[in-house]
Amino acid sequence: MIYIGCHLSVTNGYAAMGRTMLDFGGNTFAYFTRNPRGGNSKDVIPEDAAALNALLTENRFGPLVAHGSYTMNLCASNPVTKANGLDMLKKDLDRMAFFPGCFYNFHPGAHTGQGAEKGIELIAEALNAVLTAGMQTTVLLETMAGKGTEMGRSFEELRAIIDRVTLSEKLGVCFDTCHVWDAGYDIVGDLDGVLHRFDELIGLDRLYAVHFNDSKNPCGSHKDRHEKLGEGYLGTEAMRRIALHPALQNKPFILETPNDDSGYIKEIHTVLGWME
Ligand code: FE
Ligand code: FE
Ligand code: ZN
Repeated sequence: MIYIGCHLSVTNGYAAMGRTMLDFGGNTFAYFTRNPRGGNSKDVIPEDAAALNALLTENRFGPLVAHGSYTMNLCASNPVTKANGLDMLKKDLDRMAFFPGCFYNFHPGAHTGQGAEKGIELIAEALNAVLTAGMQTTVLLETMAGKGTEMGRSFEELRAIIDRVTLSEKLGVCFDTCHVWDAGYDIVGDLDGVLHRFDELIGLDRLYAVHFNDSKNPCGSHKDRHEKLGEGYLGTEAMRRIALHPALQNKPFILETPNDDSGYIKEIHTVLGWME
């Protein structure tokens, strides 16, 4: 089995997200640690965090996958942007301590013209500044579609970042199906081959979570436009094979498809139906 859920809004607090996901029928979820386009985040109320943790345990939820802000760019050429990114990362990880065992995923960044090599160096430098041996959060680099100067467009780039991080046991990867496809990995025609390649370069033991999205564009398009399950270029059969793949079992699958609540509920039940 896999854990299935979608993105939820943190507006009404943490325990409220858990109750919403119970209503939706899922058993994991994601949320933006702050406004995805930037800005501040509210402090965690300890009682609210404790209520969510109790709900997660009682209902056998899988690990949550908190998502860092899109504006966080650890390898920006602009020093202010880069410093802000590091500050967001640090504060987000401090908050994650309320949810031990959960994941924090983020977009590695965009090198903004400095070159991939420099990007890799700067992302690793930021991670080396914030990861601690005692933390109970695994930090996940997201596989990216490769729009513009986006980093994390290949398994090789992700490996290169991981290789430069001292506490690399705190690092993993979030496998976004839309992004991987858009980056040029054919998970429709050769899922086994792509996962094998991932295993050789990064190791499947580093694949902690999946962003489960169909794509509006063909393989290799570098576009990053998500589509509803089964309505894009991946299609229902390929998405089903991904959800049932032995290498991906017991992991949280997060829907980031263009849906309202009722659309998410429908997709969660579609995925649950595959597992029956
Ligand atoms: Fe993402
Ligand atoms: Fe994603
Ligand atoms: Zn995306």
